[in-house]
Amino acid sequence: MNYWRKLTRKEISERIKDALSKNVDYYERSILGIPASHLDEDVFNKDATFLNNAPFLKTMVDNPNHIGCHTMGDSEPFFAGTQKLEQELLGIVAEDILKCSEGQYDGYVASGGTEANIQAIWIYRNLFKKEFGANYNEMCILCSNDSHYSMYKAGNILNLDVVTIPVTENSRAITRESVEKHIQSAKAEGKKYFIVVANMMTTMFGSVDDINVYTEALIMSGVHFRIHIDAAFGGFVYPFSSNDGAMTFENKHVSSVTLDAHKMLQAPFGTGIFIARKGLIDYVFTNEAQYVSGLDATLIGSRSGANAIAVWMILQTYGPHDWFEKIHVLNYRSNWLCNQLKEMGVDFYHYAGSNIVTIRAKHINKELAQKYGLVPDKHDGKPMWYKIVIMGHVHIDHLNPFLDELKAIN
Ligand SMILES: *Cc1c(COP(=O)(O)O)cnc(C)c1O
Repeated sequence: MNYWRKLTRKEISERIKDALSKNVDYYERSILGIPASHLDEDVFNKDATFLNNAPFLKTMVDNPNHIGCHTMGDSEPFFAGTQKLEQELLGIVAEDILKCSEGQYDGYVASGGTEANIQAIWIYRNLFKKEFGANYNEMCILCSNDSHYSMYKAGNILNLDVVTIPVTENSRAITRESVEKHIQSAKAEGKKYFIVVANMMTTMFGSVDDINVYTEALIMSGVHFRIHIDAAFGGFVYPFSSNDGAMTFENKHVSSVTLDAHKMLQAPFGTGIFIARKGLIDYVFTNEAQYVSGLDATLIGSRSGANAIAVWMILQTYGPHDWFEKIHVLNYRSNWLCNQLKEMGVDFYHYAGSNIVTIRAKHINKELAQKYGLVPDKHDGKPMWYKIVIMGHVHIDHLNPFLDELKAIN
């Protein structure tokens, strides 16, 4: 643990106050050049007695802009205080959670997992073009068909084909045979450069891809490849519930990772996290961003510094041990639910260490799904599966009445 330790409420509040004091103060200084200010004071409460005990709200009202990437080069000096806390947050995620060596990463707080995934694919597309002179039609995105739909957005925006590997029906796994077959047929169509997205917990099943299946098949086939991990769902879960180093930067084949703090961390929306090995983000530098100090290597442009502060606060409030315990409580509840379903003879999918339990649709009717807010795998057409996500608010006392009703119809 290099950065991450539990802080008291008072320590957190003081660190944020100190950070804000190192940002520009529009009341104290005449700032004439930037098209930004604190939130409109006629609309939003700037009363100090109200905000002093609410560091996140205070940051929102101060409204720092974290435009650009702050792990490298220069950044806008106006918001240096809170940008420093974003750097710390990225250090916790990259080094303490994802086992990257000290300082050997770049990253930023993105709008969400979608943006972070597109950012990664954008980097590798430019890398293959710049380093190998590759054409876009010689590249493809390779992922499983349980992958998030953001891969298709990325393919569409970045003009890349998406090759999807079917997963097995019951274990939701990619197989060596299938990966090899799809690489071969992509090669036959002229693909030489593979942008691979491996899942650390899929949205619908919580399944984790066996990354070695990808790397072994790709190495054997002799193609160029880079691997991005989509841990939008699993990034704050799986590293705490498994000892699987293969999906972290301990594995030399992992080049970048997406996490979402606005899922399991319960941060405000707008808190995707993108982390890549040092130097890779340079492939998407926009040199034309001349009005931004340090230019811009992110997809988004202007973004709220308050979002980064919220994630920093959550991680510092828990510290590594309390967060580990929280994930283990959720795992305990998930396992409890699985045992109940097993006893009832209800078919379901659960990946060890995940907090998602996905039930075969044949056991569920529309009324039950609606009453308990279960999410189907598809909204048009006949669903095959419904999922339960064990969040902090999903207690066994909430699962029990659901199970009673499930029993009654099975
Ligand atoms: C939620 C999710 C995303 C997309 O994240 P947004 O924050 O909604 O953009 C990407 N991948 C996976 C696996 C997800 O669960």
